[in-house]
Parts: sequence; C-alpha cells; structure tokens
Amino acid sequence: MQCHALTPEKRRCPQDARAGAQYCAAHDRELGQPAQGKPRLGGIAARLRGAFGPRIYDGGKYDPPGWLNDAPTQKVIEHLQNHPDSMVRWTAAYILRKRRAVEAIDPLWNVLQHDETRFVRQQSAVALGKIGTPLAVAPLVQALNHDRDQGVRQACAIALGNLGLPHTDQEIARVLEREENVYVKWDCIVALGQLGDRRVEKLLVRLQAEEIAQVIRDACRDALLEIQQRERLTTSPHPPSP
Ligand SMILES: [Zn+2]
Repeated sequence: MQCHALTPEKRRCPQDARAGAQYCAAHDRELGQPAQGKPRLGGIAARLRGAFGPRIYDGGKYDPPGWLNDAPTQKVIEHLQNHPDSMVRWTAAYILRKRRAVEAIDPLWNVLQHDETRFVRQQSAVALGKIGTPLAVAPLVQALNHDRDQGVRQACAIALGNLGLPHTDQEIARVLEREENVYVKWDCIVALGQLGDRRVEKLLVRLQAEEIAQVIRDACRDALLEIQQRERLTTSPHPPSP
C-alpha cells in the first residue's frame, strides 16, 4: 500500500508504506504515533474517534438500487474503482459513506485523486469526511489544494470542518489565502469557525477588512464570533447563561 502522508506540496507521498504500517519509513518516524492510526488501517484511529468523538452527522437520503446496496463492502469498493458507469461509482461511494467503511479510505483516496467525473470525486470526499477517522484528513487536504473542480474543493472544506481535528485549521488557512473561488472561500471560512482555533483570527480579520465580496466579509465576522464563543466555552467552568 502507498504511504498515507502528504509531501510538502500536499500530494500523496509516492513511497510504499512499511509492511503493516500506514507510512513509509521516513514518514513513519515523523508521524507514526498510535493516534495516527497505527498499526492497522484505521484500527486505533477509528476506536479513538469512537471513544472520544461524536459520530459525524449524516443527513444524506438516497435509496441505492438493491443489487449494489446489498453487496459486500469489498464488492462495493470494486465497483467504486472500476465500474464504467459514473452513476454506479457515485452510488458505491455513497454506500461506503453510509456504512462508514474504514477499509474504504484507501480506495476512496484513489478515486478522489483520479476519477474523471467530478460528482464521483465529490461523493468520495463526503464519504471520507463521514467515515470520520484522522486517516481521512490527508486525502481531503490534498484535494482541497489540488482538485480542479470547485464543488470537490467545497466538499473537502466542509468535511474537514466537520471532522474537527487539530492542525487542519492551518491547512485550510493556507488554501484560503490563495483560493479565488468565492464558494470555496466561504466553505473554508465556515470550517475555520467550526474548528475554533484562535491562530486563524488574524487571517480572518484581514480578509474581513480586505475582501470585496460582502458574503465573504460576513462569513469572516461569523467565524470570528464562533471562535470567540468556542473559546469561552472551553475556558469557563460553566457554559454562559442564555
Ligand atoms: Zn511517505
């Protein structure tokens, strides 16, 4: 299996992972702590999220055809990667999302990188976010940086905000500084509000002052308020009275 880390250019590391590990030798030294999901794919990471984090809400409603919906997960993964009909690939990603199939993270990453149909890549990004382990962060950060489609980048920003994992705010902030699409910017700013890390306040204050689009200035104001509210909740022993 390929290494699960990103290069400094935010592309997937091309090295092979060490046997039984998530990362190549170099990245394993740097990242290979238990919280990152060693030793099995998603094993410890999935249990950590189960123990400490709430499941990420999934309001998606769609009835997949029975032949696909009842198939074993390995079969669904095969269709996700190989079926010639993009609607079947999309549906396979949706089913894996609903099953929160941790074993699908690697195939979903491949599809997010290489599928030619933007709706399939977008559904794969949503699925990675809903599966909700720390292993989903690297694929989402890569596509947020590099996918050519605005809808896919939006899905990645939303998923990273919902995941709520530490350090992702810095990844989103870096993208926000150079992103030009107003919808992607908006979703990045909302995600930063959800993540609630004060390190991004300076950037949001600057964007609020400089941005031409009113909708972006408003989003910055709301995100800054949310960050301050979250800060109060985590620093005060009692929640504020209404
Ligand atoms: Zn590596």
